[in-house]
Amino acid sequence: MSDNFLRLRENMVSTQIKARGIKDEKVLAAFHRVPRHMFVGPAQKFQAYEDYPLPIEHNQTISQPFIVALMTEALKLKGTEAVLEIGTGSGYQTAILAEIVKHVYTIERFEKLSNTASILLNKLGYKNISYWVGDGTKGWPEKAPFEGILVAAATANIPPALIDQLAPNSKLVIPVGDPGSQDLLVVKKDDRGNIDRENLGGCRFLPLVEEKES
Ligand code: SAH
Repeated sequence: MSDNFLRLRENMVSTQIKARGIKDEKVLAAFHRVPRHMFVGPAQKFQAYEDYPLPIEHNQTISQPFIVALMTEALKLKGTEAVLEIGTGSGYQTAILAEIVKHVYTIERFEKLSNTASILLNKLGYKNISYWVGDGTKGWPEKAPFEGILVAAATANIPPALIDQLAPNSKLVIPVGDPGSQDLLVVKKDDRGNIDRENLGGCRFLPLVEEKES
């Protein structure tokens, strides 16, 4: 059984990730190690290594493998960073980041998803992850600044708190646009705090839901 999943995983890395131009060895190694089939429900285990997103609880999705790889590579991580992730979801992207960096701070608005992800990630042995249930558009001010921020849900406007909480010489990766048409943006902050943007192209994410102040 586990041999089958290993073969499926190796095939995913070569045909979906490497073949589409992902070169960062740290990203490729992380994809080889993280057992993606454990982040989906029992009915989806054999689809876990296919080239598309899959449903998880609360009508959310585990992102397509290539998109996870593209976003992770775009952060240009060295391995020493503390990074912030918005949208824990299944915890798969969290595990990929935790394989690479020193510490991952991850925020999810649904408590059930955060709990399920943290139980699995603990079981898999990750000790460098902190979890928070709440509105990720506000970031995690107590733990800022972050040397990388990854947002796994789409927004019309980049939340200003996330740009504030980005360390100098660091990147924020975020899908920006309306539900039908989004671009994956890399927002770079230089050592003087100046902001520059790069567009990696079209993508499709569920919306980032901002909590309204009551
Ligand atoms: N990286 C995840 C993707 C999950 S989909 C994975 O691969 O499994 C996006 C996630 O963002 C959902 O779980 C959704 O509940 C969460 N989300 C949406 N708006 C949010 C917000 N304002 N703060 C925190 N999480 C949010």
